[in-house]
Amino acid sequence: MKMSDQPGAVPVTVARGDGIGPEIMEATLRVLDAAGARLAVEEIQIGEAVYGRGHTAGIDAQAWESLRRTRVFLKAPITTPQGGGFKSLNVTIRKSLGLFANVRPCVAYAPFVPTRHPKMDVLIVRENEEDLYAGIEHRQTDEVTQCLKLISRPGCERIVRYAFDQARRLGRSKVTCLTKDNIMKLTDGLFHRVFDEVSRDFPDLAAEHLIVDIGTARLADTPEAFDVIVTPNLYGDVLSDVAAQIAGSVGLAGSANIGEQAAMFEAIHGSAPPLAGRDVANPSGLLLGAVMMLAHIGQADVAERVHNAWLTTLEAGVATADIAGPGTEPVGTRAFADAVIDRLGQRPAALPPVTYPAVPQQPVPTVTARPAPVKTMDGVDVFLHHDDRDPAALAALLRTAAAGAPLELQMITNRGVKVWPDGLPETFCTDHWRVRFRSARPGAARRGDVVDLLDRLDRAGLDFVKTEGLYRFDDELGYSLGQGQ
Ligand code: NAD
Repeated sequence: MKMSDQPGAVPVTVARGDGIGPEIMEATLRVLDAAGARLAVEEIQIGEAVYGRGHTAGIDAQAWESLRRTRVFLKAPITTPQGGGFKSLNVTIRKSLGLFANVRPCVAYAPFVPTRHPKMDVLIVRENEEDLYAGIEHRQTDEVTQCLKLISRPGCERIVRYAFDQARRLGRSKVTCLTKDNIMKLTDGLFHRVFDEVSRDFPDLAAEHLIVDIGTARLADTPEAFDVIVTPNLYGDVLSDVAAQIAGSVGLAGSANIGEQAAMFEAIHGSAPPLAGRDVANPSGLLLGAVMMLAHIGQADVAERVHNAWLTTLEAGVATADIAGPGTEPVGTRAFADAVIDRLGQRPAALPPVTYPAVPQQPVPTVTARPAPVKTMDGVDVFLHHDDRDPAALAALLRTAAAGAPLELQMITNRGVKVWPDGLPETFCTDHWRVRFRSARPGAARRGDVVDLLDRLDRAGLDFVKTEGLYRFDDELGYSLGQGQ
């Protein structure tokens, strides 16, 4: 009986991808079929061929239609074309479908897969839509480019609640938050603050926060000290590859991208072009991604059968080249899938067998409604493209230009370092300056004051490239103070 003939077959969209994608997808679908997965597969084409037809994100309208219809996507890796003009297909899909959570289990399978961390079992929950991945970048001066890091309160709350919910559901005991809020006090600070707030709703779970640099070092050294990790997008991206690699191989880990309306499941690795067409790639990452999909769509029985057969296969010493230990003769992609199929119905003896809760997908957490704060303005930061590198001369120009204006020059920084007043001559300066103007009284600045100031700067021949309002929200500062204040 074929998957789609099973009663209650769930429609899912499948893409075979590029490089090793078609081989590992074929292996995965064969295992799912043999395990009795109840799936009605709709195939779409994405990746290289579609980029080649002129679709800059590697996906066409027909594929979107399928994804919007099934809302469940099993995706093999694709090859991202080099050079400008192309968009990342993964980022496009995640953002367009609102897949806010990236969930990556990183587990060691010692002694069957060589690893220095035999007790490792870490679940990484990465925020998937915000942070530096908004892709808002600008070149503002001859010398300086910028990338906007956007962090929203609802975005933080959703991912942090999701991580705690997941931890509770999976019987885990601790959630660790990793940020860099000693430096990024507003953006990462918000993530940390929301983590502290949400953790109070989960008194049964331990909660800790670590600065991401020491947290990553500890993860690489002592991963068994971690349980569930929740972190913003960029740190999560880096961390989850490190974690997968030290658990055994990037070829082993699957990943789920979860949204309110849709979900995408994949391997964490790429299309490995040098291995393509050679029947050597490990299909395990995609297979475990597919297991996460089965659990998500309420087929816990099949997820469990496949996962336990896969663990039994590892225990039997069947291994593709990437995970074969010394003295083990590696098998190919197809033979590995056959070995898993042969063991369907078996449970591992040495590795812990898995169980999946028989309830369907974890609901997406709702975000707490909050009253809108009172927003007032203290002044404005104006960013200038200015070639002369003398801060005192720039201050003199600005003061002359703004003489009599409602906003007064308060300080000048260059790359965040205060250079006026009381700067150090040793500070290296670029052609990109932040000049801060404030009203005499806190909260008394008006938007018209900013327009007036910009007009004066324009007439003085100063090249402003961007402005940022200095706001207060219910009297809480909405901007960082300059260094040295
Ligand atoms: P990669 O993950 O394809 O390969 C990195 C290394 O891991 C290689 O040494 C490769 O041989 C090995 N490897 C990866 N998967 C394996 C498997 N299943 N079995 C055995 N060994 C495996 O990363 P890359 O080489 O940096 O990228 C190749 C292409 O994949 C690029 O075009 C990149 O943009 C794309 N990519 C796609 C995705 C995705 O679609 N989700 C993710 C990452 C990279």
